[in-house]
Amino acid sequence: MQNNEATLDTLPVSTLRGVGPRSAAKLAAFGIETVQDVLFHLPRRYEDRTRIVPIGSLRPGDHAVIEAEVDLAEIKYGRRRSLLARVSDGSGSLMLRFFYFSKVQQQGLSRGTRLRIYGEARRGPATLEMVHPEYQRLADGEPVPTEDRLTAIYPASEGVHQLTLRKLSEQALQLYEHDRLPEWLPQELLTKLQLTDLQSALRYVHRPPPDADLEALEAGVHFTQQRLAFEEMLAHHLSLRRVRQRARRLKAEPLAGNHSLLTRFMRSLPFALTTAQQRVIKELLRDLSASHPMMRLVQGDVGCGKTVVAAAAAIQAVACDCQVAIMAPTELLAEQHFGNFDDWFKSLGIQVGWLSGKVKGKARDRVLADLADGSVQVLIGTHALFQQDVTFDRLGLVIIDEQHRFGVHQRLALRDKGRQQQKVPHQLIMTATPIPRTLSMALYADLDSSVIDELPPGRTPVQTVALPDSRRAEVIERVREACREGRQAYWVCTLIEESESLQCQAAEDTAVLLAETLPELNVGLVHGRLKEQEKASRMTDFKRGDIDLLVATTVIEVGVDVPNASLMIIENAERLGLAQLHQLRGRVGRGAVQSSCVLMYRGPLSALARKRLTVLRESNDGFEIARKDLELRGPGEVLGTRQTGMLQFRIADLSRDQGLLNKVEQAASYLIENQADRIQPIIRRWLGRSARYGEV
Ligand code: ADP
Ligand code: MG
Repeated sequence: MQNNEATLDTLPVSTLRGVGPRSAAKLAAFGIETVQDVLFHLPRRYEDRTRIVPIGSLRPGDHAVIEAEVDLAEIKYGRRRSLLARVSDGSGSLMLRFFYFSKVQQQGLSRGTRLRIYGEARRGPATLEMVHPEYQRLADGEPVPTEDRLTAIYPASEGVHQLTLRKLSEQALQLYEHDRLPEWLPQELLTKLQLTDLQSALRYVHRPPPDADLEALEAGVHFTQQRLAFEEMLAHHLSLRRVRQRARRLKAEPLAGNHSLLTRFMRSLPFALTTAQQRVIKELLRDLSASHPMMRLVQGDVGCGKTVVAAAAAIQAVACDCQVAIMAPTELLAEQHFGNFDDWFKSLGIQVGWLSGKVKGKARDRVLADLADGSVQVLIGTHALFQQDVTFDRLGLVIIDEQHRFGVHQRLALRDKGRQQQKVPHQLIMTATPIPRTLSMALYADLDSSVIDELPPGRTPVQTVALPDSRRAEVIERVREACREGRQAYWVCTLIEESESLQCQAAEDTAVLLAETLPELNVGLVHGRLKEQEKASRMTDFKRGDIDLLVATTVIEVGVDVPNASLMIIENAERLGLAQLHQLRGRVGRGAVQSSCVLMYRGPLSALARKRLTVLRESNDGFEIARKDLELRGPGEVLGTRQTGMLQFRIADLSRDQGLLNKVEQAASYLIENQADRIQPIIRRWLGRSARYGEV
């Protein structure tokens, strides 16, 4: 913007009336530092205070304005000291109740005082009452106008009260009549995308007219709110794209050239790669050959074969004399990868190392030494790979499998860990679960993305049924039947309690019972409490077919790969999320035989649980399931609490506002190409101080 006059985005909130240093500090802690911040602190809901309602017509639960006279005010000493004031307006009377009050306040409520009161009517012991209502005293004879707009109710906190926020927004809106708040979206974009201008949108959402469509407003879908949601999503998107742009300016070792090792690896595989796998490998090789770091996300449904794709990238790095770190979220999965990679790579003469938190003492020293001198070329493990004392000789590529749902901060931290002589390693991130486009746009726009959208040939979709656990005996017969035919089965125990030890206990009990009922079968057990070695050896036994039925906790959720297993039983399926159920189910259906999955539930089912189970019965497509999951639960829950820090949108809702996505991407590209100077202020406006991760 061309002129230097102070605009509202830089004007400190302390310039508003009533904001001294103390309240400025409280407001700052609440994220409000400038007048612009006040304007972008948007209402949570609205109340209609445009009409005065007779007390006689109030019902419990009504939010209303009344005008009444004080009959009596007194302090009651019950369980809690409280100030009670009875007020009446001719149509009825009502009690005001205050637990916190001052002497002055009490004196101000003398008999005969006229009040205008805003509050929620609730059923009290004798009459309706309002607890801590807002009120104002009315001077005699002077009519006081009622509100002519709907009243905004803001998100408030203990230190920052509703009334304060309303007064501040009143002043901010007045200033906004004359002073400028920059409109960062160019007019041609607004026109093209049919978005209203910032000023009308803000005015409307803070002070909607009485005839406004309250339903739309409270649902957040009014076009004025959508304009703001749009800008907010744009801000998040831009900040991630900026991370990506900056990453482009970093240096990385180009891993190009000689593909002979890779060719040997592919020839050694017992299967031909799918077209999708080949395409994605090509994308990876192209990225790896660049002198700036690859930051790529590979998505694909359960069982589509992400592991070989990762292996191909690893081999290319090794062929270029670089080391590779492969990180998995659980020991079990890391171990399984270790097994796979070690098998595949040994014949190619590649040295694979193993490191987890459980590797200690001499063994650990040995791995670390081999790593530091470069003799271990591929290191596989858990997050222990990135502990302080782990140093690589020449780390060229980091592969994060089955995505810990890392936030951008963590991804950057990992990358910096591998920084050596101005160079950072390439990064490849593999997700266990497909991510709906909405979420990936909001969370992974800093990454390039590849999708393996094809399963290896010959797979038959898993048949899924939901059965009440009262039919357990039948389910057990199915297990017997499957194993008699030479197949193997999983029995997954999940518990209502989140406690791991209880879960393990349940699995142990179930294993004992099943072994008794199915004496002809070898029943094995894995759970989180077992020693790593025991876990690994049971998995090996299962893989070799020595165990027919594997009873397990959700430790087997990701990655476990035993193609001969064709039946999966999941207990208490109603307790698990869609993504988790889909992952678990993905353990079967890996071979050519018809596989099935029994979702056992304990009734009665809630409506949500019923919908979830139906989604699973009807679909085997991870992308479709992820979309439904987002619809049913919302982004916060889909991603788990760890991510919510990143998802603190003030107004946008990723599942509700999916329709804006295309526009957001268009606008972002337009700004990057044509008006890059506006990017920073848009990010600052919406992400404020939390935008720091953009400053890489
Ligand atoms: P995910 O994508 O879930 O991690 P995996 O990489 O574990 O899947 O692969 C699942 C199974 O499919 C493994 O047994 C793997 O060896 C096998 N597989 C991978 N690619 C192919 C292919 N192109 N043809 C046949 N089988 C394949
Ligand atoms: Mg996998």
